[in-house]
Amino acid sequence: MTLEPEIWTADVVYVGFGTPMLEGGLVVVGGHVTAVGPLAELRQTYPQAPQIHKGKALTPPTVNAHTHLDLSTVPYFRGPYPDFIRHVIEHDRWRTPQAAAQGLGELQALGVGGFGDIAYRPEVVEWLVEHSPLPGVVYLEVINRNPDQADLVASKIAAQLSNWRKRNSLIRVGLSPHTPYNVSRELLKKLVEIARLEGFPLQMHVAESPEETVLMTQGSGALQEIPLQYGFPAYQEVPGLTPVRYLAELGVLGPHLTIVHGVQVDEEEVQMLAQSGTRVVACPRSNEALGCGQMPWELYLKHRLEPALGTDSRSSSPDLDVRNEALFLWKRVDPRVLVRAATRNGYRVLGLEPPRITRGTPVSQVQSW
Ligand SMILES: [Zn+2]
Repeated sequence: MTLEPEIWTADVVYVGFGTPMLEGGLVVVGGHVTAVGPLAELRQTYPQAPQIHKGKALTPPTVNAHTHLDLSTVPYFRGPYPDFIRHVIEHDRWRTPQAAAQGLGELQALGVGGFGDIAYRPEVVEWLVEHSPLPGVVYLEVINRNPDQADLVASKIAAQLSNWRKRNSLIRVGLSPHTPYNVSRELLKKLVEIARLEGFPLQMHVAESPEETVLMTQGSGALQEIPLQYGFPAYQEVPGLTPVRYLAELGVLGPHLTIVHGVQVDEEEVQMLAQSGTRVVACPRSNEALGCGQMPWELYLKHRLEPALGTDSRSSSPDLDVRNEALFLWKRVDPRVLVRAATRNGYRVLGLEPPRITRGTPVSQVQSW
């Protein structure tokens, strides 16, 4: 290890706070950062130091704010969203703690600073609470459309979450009503009430596919066929509202809620999300693979709602690396917004303190992309 100073730079340098720098750098000596700042200033102070271009970005460890680790062994799928749902239903039995362990291993190898995960089965939550060496939030997924069962389901989940919360773990537990259409209105209201009273974070897939909007507004379309095919009860309760408007009407939006996707939205809905303090996670590669379109980043940024990034699961994303989500959008969205999305915004969504690169930070805590 050399004790001679080196200047590290990249297309974007982000130290975890403030505005990411397009002409920035870090001075590195003996495996530690000793200075950060504009490249010109660093060059002036360290005229002899070699300058090393590290690639697209230098940032604190990234955060994968939305995944499903229990889908890590399910084959990658590309195709229309309703067919993807069939693919997931048909691999239901693959969603095990072993699969989650494989996904967690991938996140560790990537050096992420935290993760947000939706787990389908309680035993997967249990396993992650017990074993995860990484901090994050694991949300138990809830799917139930029978309004008569709302009380029973809600109190059972409240008890499970309270038990997990007593454990000494890096993982915080939360809950995930699957989508606005896969939980009854009654259950959704109860879950949100529990989350608010008890301080459990909520994460929910919202406004992902065009088919979701058709189902919610008209009660028809390709998603309507799925329950019939698998012998589940048909969708009956049609709110006649778009997903975000429906959640607004129910009083579900707010800072305790993170919506994932938020692709099928108009400007008024983006405004509702922004004004309510609702958080948003984008999964651009999964959206592309499943024919869902892309989040209107310009609308979110116009209303000062900066999304975080997630990969979604290995069944609709080729890996669990959020840097690849940012790089996928690199030419369409300001890279300074993307590096913040992949780092600071992810920590915030998960309730974790965003790390900073300052004098003394070990280079192991600096990710180059
Ligand atoms: Zn998802």
